[in-house]
Amino acid sequence: MACGRYSEHYANSVRLAALLIKKGTPTLLSYLLDNLPRCDDYDNPCLPCTHEFRTHHLRHVLQLYSPLLKHLRFGTGGYQKVLGQQEYEQLYPLSGIPCNPHLFSFTLLFTLIRHLCGPRDAGWPGWDRAPLITEKSPEYDVIRLRQFRDVLYSHLPRGDVRGPVFAKWWTYLSAVLIRLGLREAEIERFRLEVEVVDEDTVKFLAEMQRQYREERETPACEKDYANIDVRLKPAEDGEIDRVFDSARYTGRY
Ligand SMILES: [Zn+2]
Ligand SMILES: [Zn+2]
Repeated sequence: MACGRYSEHYANSVRLAALLIKKGTPTLLSYLLDNLPRCDDYDNPCLPCTHEFRTHHLRHVLQLYSPLLKHLRFGTGGYQKVLGQQEYEQLYPLSGIPCNPHLFSFTLLFTLIRHLCGPRDAGWPGWDRAPLITEKSPEYDVIRLRQFRDVLYSHLPRGDVRGPVFAKWWTYLSAVLIRLGLREAEIERFRLEVEVVDEDTVKFLAEMQRQYREERETPACEKDYANIDVRLKPAEDGEIDRVFDSARYTGRY
């Protein structure tokens, strides 16, 4: 069945990417705000007294950690350069107005989570290892979202997601988002919203994908797409985790 001017298989890949970016991005923001370091040890610690306490504290943490974020912008102090000028200006607007974290991109949020949320216990395997099926705590689901993005964005140009594969991936991604706090009803509503895939959504996602490509040092080649196609066949439980294992992104962040 075709969906407007797009094939149903292409529409499926757009629906998955839309769920990931439009619902996953605010979910990552919630995780970040819930897991920021405390500021009790500093002068003028935040008190959880105001309506916008968490956003206020994020801005506070960005001040406290500005030397680290400067390293991440310029690749100094033993850190890799992971922040572009545009992202850096979102954190520290030139105009001097307070930053608006609701404008932060998926990638920027993940970078902040990686560098600000911690430290973790000795058994923590790091943000680059693919989670095991049994690892279901929020930090592993954050990794799953990022891995899902890597696989999906590499695959999107081909846009060949058949019905059963779509259903499996949609269920998988929904489960991750729900574990991270998104309400099931919200996903249901979104499912209806993307029933018809419109040109704006396709353009929006193409732009996300372009930014993602720019961030990566080596763009995916045709061979990569071919491999992912093979992996996209209908899968047993746990298969998607193995997909993520083999597609694991070991690059920078
Ligand atoms: Zn305050
Ligand atoms: Zn604070």
